[in-house]
Amino acid sequence: MQKNCKNIVILTGAGISAESGLATFRGSDGLWNNCRIEDVATVEAFQRNPEYVHAFYNDLKKELVKAKPNPAHLAITRLQENYPAAVSVVTQNVDTLHEKAGNKNVYHIHGQINQAVCLNCGHILETFGDVDTQTVCPLCGVQGMMKPNIVFFGENLLCMNRVEHLLDNCGLFISVGTSGVVFPAASFVQIAKYNGAETYEFNMEKTSNNFYFDRHIYGPAGTTLPAFVDELIKNREDSPQDPESA
Ligand SMILES: [Zn+2]
Repeated sequence: MQKNCKNIVILTGAGISAESGLATFRGSDGLWNNCRIEDVATVEAFQRNPEYVHAFYNDLKKELVKAKPNPAHLAITRLQENYPAAVSVVTQNVDTLHEKAGNKNVYHIHGQINQAVCLNCGHILETFGDVDTQTVCPLCGVQGMMKPNIVFFGENLLCMNRVEHLLDNCGLFISVGTSGVVFPAASFVQIAKYNGAETYEFNMEKTSNNFYFDRHIYGPAGTTLPAFVDELIKNREDSPQDPESA
């Protein structure tokens, strides 16, 4: 890279959390933490049996709250603090490891485990405590309308207006721990590439021949991403200009 990149977008998927000991969700076996996806991650399942779905996410919350960020998450913080560009994180993960690592500008397109949304008024409740059919919305006062703020199959992804804006103005697109062939990753790299971004893919192993990526870097993200970030920081050109206004 010859010059500083403006506006870096980092897309992350299950692979970055795997190194923090979290199981890959939505695996190819169709199970999600030993539950069938049809029973815990669809609108129909929630309407049919909200108690069961709440219990599943309450249990998952307890598991995710214990997980610690790994060197890949921490490298993103280092990049945000030491590189003269706006660095945004678009994650498919519902855990909060990016936030725990100190990452800023994180957009959870599949929702996040520590939130519930009120289906009556849209209020987002942030809590690592249990949420169930007895929970009262702190804003509208209605009971039993809170839904885990997790994007179920068939629902729209979150934050997409913001993500599309970021991709339209992206100089460097980095995909970490996501296959690159499944929506939305495949379309994100395509949009970024179309807008002139350099595109890098970090994955454990070769998963695709996605030709929108300029470079594929294989290995554990906890090793490969920090090395890449350190190289970026080392080679940056310190500019007196504010990167936001440049
Ligand atoms: Zn409400």
